[in-house]
Amino acid sequence: MDIISTVNNSINLVKRLREISKNISDAEFSNLLDDLSMELADVKLESASLKEELAALKDEVRVLKSTAPAPDEKPTGTKWGCYQFPDDSGLYCTGCWDSKRNKSMTNRVNSRFRSCPVCKSAIGS
Ligand SMILES: [Zn+2]
Repeated sequence: MDIISTVNNSINLVKRLREISKNISDAEFSNLLDDLSMELADVKLESASLKEELAALKDEVRVLKSTAPAPDEKPTGTKWGCYQFPDDSGLYCTGCWDSKRNKSMTNRVNSRFRSCPVCKSAIGS
């Protein structure tokens, strides 16, 4: 059930009640309806912003899931001081993997050194 349409229905109900209350001439009843009407308008605004926030969070989760390594992923060995992974010729930072399980692709600096763009460590001898 869509919360925003539920609240919209409630607002319409309040409008109908207000029409009925005109015949009764009860000031307190009318004031209460005004309060209720304002409350529902706030709920509607809040719901819309929650809906946007949820969509943004869903996007974020989707991105995180697609970039996170599989839980059982392990380096197959090292080459030039960097980790290598199955079916991947990339050379990854050992520090980033060992401390945070982040696969950080290293960059070649020269024939003896590589560097990690994430933790800035120089790898080589
Ligand atoms: Zn690193």
